[in-house]
Amino acid sequence: MNVAASQTTRTPLMEVRDLGKVFARREDILAHILRQVGLAEAPPRVHALQEVSLSLFPGEVLGVVGESGCGKSTLGRILAGLIEPSSGSVSYRGADIRTDKLRGKRGLGVQMVFQNPHASLNPRKRVADIIGEGARAHGVVSRVEIDDYLADTMRKCGLDPDWARRFPHQFSGGQRQRINIARALAVKPDLIVCDEPVSALDVSVQAQILNLFMDLRQEFGLSYLFISHDLGVVRHLSDRVMVMYLGRVVEIGPVDQIFSAPAHPYTQALVREVPSLRPGQGDFKLIDGEIPSPLAPPPGCKFHPRCPLATARCRSEVPALRAVDAGHEAACHLLEQV
Ligand code: SF4
Repeated sequence: MNVAASQTTRTPLMEVRDLGKVFARREDILAHILRQVGLAEAPPRVHALQEVSLSLFPGEVLGVVGESGCGKSTLGRILAGLIEPSSGSVSYRGADIRTDKLRGKRGLGVQMVFQNPHASLNPRKRVADIIGEGARAHGVVSRVEIDDYLADTMRKCGLDPDWARRFPHQFSGGQRQRINIARALAVKPDLIVCDEPVSALDVSVQAQILNLFMDLRQEFGLSYLFISHDLGVVRHLSDRVMVMYLGRVVEIGPVDQIFSAPAHPYTQALVREVPSLRPGQGDFKLIDGEIPSPLAPPPGCKFHPRCPLATARCRSEVPALRAVDAGHEAACHLLEQV
């Protein structure tokens, strides 16, 4: 599929503009008074997301990659409605989600599957209640149909409906993740935010769950925001890939271009980190240095302390995203010279 061309003719399912999220420690009363009289400093603030913009189209899989602390999970949680952004806008089906009415609409249309299938299921509830809770509460199907509907949803997620009376502890890790997926699917969403959904699973089970995601996408026309640190998984599943570094988007584009012709030095380093089994392509190399603390991010380009190509300008000026090719953008000063 020519992703870039097809996007120009489609309306985005979700649109994010200049999204920002700041986390600050809450001051207790003593700290507040001390700060007021100049005896204490303001609590540290973490800029988890800065100026993040993206569009997600119906039926599309957008992979989000980056090292720990790059803001990818925060982005997913905002899109799923679990936390509020500090600035910027998120629109779902063309309308801003900040209105109460649309929060409800987005609440059903956007679901989330978490990394840890053990912690994200209520151990006291039976599987039928976990999967059916949202569908029942929101009247997704009529009461007469609900049992058949839930049995069908379980079957589609590779679960035997006869297991509906069991509790989560009676299932393996892979089966628990299938329960999580069934719970998300049961309310008929358009978009599922998947936050590292296979990283806690055995390698042999990961492939089965990834295939389930792709089968459900095919059958229901689902979109996924697929967050992962595993570039192999993202390459396998995604139509487009967004690369994040310290809360900013540094590159976004069609999956083939991101992996065959990455434009940003950080993406180039990430792609080089993926071990290759092909002869002559084994230039596996770790990125030098540590990701800086988000409490004290470097000025200018956030990647400059680790970038082998950094110049004086990189230390003072934040690079803007600029077009590299159709539907492909990257944020690096060097691209001005290309
Ligand atoms: Fe490296 Fe400078 Fe480009 Fe940042 S802007 S990635 S420091 S060359």
